Amino acid sequence: MRVLGIETTCDETAAAVVDSPREGEVEILSNEVLSQIAEHAPYGGVVPEIAARAHVEVLDRIVARALEKAGTKLSEIDAVAAAAGPGLIGGVIVGLTTAKALALVAGKPFIAVNHLEAHALSARLTDKIQFPYLLLLASGGHTQLLAVRGVGDYLRLGTTMDDAIGEAFDKTAKMLGLPYPGGPQVEKEAERGDPERFALPRPLAGRAEPDFSLSGLKTAVRLEAERIAPLTPTDVADLCASFQAAVVDVVVDRTRAALRVFPGKPNALVVAGGVAANQSVRRALLRLANESGLRLAAPPLSLCTDNGAMIAWAGVERLRKGLKDDMGVAPRARWPLAEVKAEATA
Ligand code: ATP
Ligand code: MG
Ligand code: FE
Repeated sequence: MRVLGIETTCDETAAAVVDSPREGEVEILSNEVLSQIAEHAPYGGVVPEIAARAHVEVLDRIVARALEKAGTKLSEIDAVAAAAGPGLIGGVIVGLTTAKALALVAGKPFIAVNHLEAHALSARLTDKIQFPYLLLLASGGHTQLLAVRGVGDYLRLGTTMDDAIGEAFDKTAKMLGLPYPGGPQVEKEAERGDPERFALPRPLAGRAEPDFSLSGLKTAVRLEAERIAPLTPTDVADLCASFQAAVVDVVVDRTRAALRVFPGKPNALVVAGGVAANQSVRRALLRLANESGLRLAAPPLSLCTDNGAMIAWAGVERLRKGLKDDMGVAPRARWPLAEVKAEATA
């Protein structure tokens, strides 16, 4: 089956076509992503109104290009999927409405995908990972550890009590005068910095419950920066390296705690979401997976951050279970993954 996927929940306008002739076989025929970085950069973060308008302006073109690059036509598509949330509501409305219209025109099923479910299932698009697996979902808006037991069966083991990890990266970057989006910038600075120069906290380390807390770490970076201001380029690099080292320690410690409370035995450790693009995080999780006798699945970088292929793939997974949606499905700003069920609305 061939699914067109549309993603507009944040600051990436994306569309992709994924083809899966039978279970275990899959090909990404196209994956078009247009990032709005330039539009938001002057504001140091995503501005919802600007994002929504930008999605409206380019989505038609991105969808047309995804179909064209896939060498396919709307009439050859088996379903149209779109992220129905969670995310910035203006953008979600644009993608969802467009997907519904395309599905109606083509007379094809429509599938409303939870953006977090798409991140959660993306490892099955690129690696043949079997359920159940332990998922670390670390993105700009979310940081959760989940037992993924099947499509529409997500058990939350832990979550952040304050900031998401990606958010902590972004805020740290902003504080240090680095451009938006901060995650990749902090990683780049950290490469030439000294991770041991600043003694930063490892919040919640050693706790049995696999929860996260990032705001104290962010504050600790701010206090150090204020203490040694004005910052030289070396100071910035050292602060980034020390921050990233603390995040990596926290990620490993919290993920280890989740492995202890995982119901049964996971088939793999999976990391998804934008933060999964971070090489230090990936390397540390690989070590943890090895020491736990587990396989680590981390999507390629282009599938870690927001993209249409993961939406199309979630569409494939749902369609395969006969899960189609009603045109009345509403866009949702908030939609926790643990609330997603394997239920059809059409
Ligand atoms: P959500 O998926 O929770 O709705 P989102 O879609 O905005 O949020 P993603 O696009 O999945 O999030 O990820 C973006 C986040 O990932 C940003 O916070 C960004 O800073 C972070 N990120 C991206 N690349 C890296 C990296 N190399 N190192 C650390 N963080 C990164
Ligand atoms: Mg983004
Ligand atoms: Fe995302």
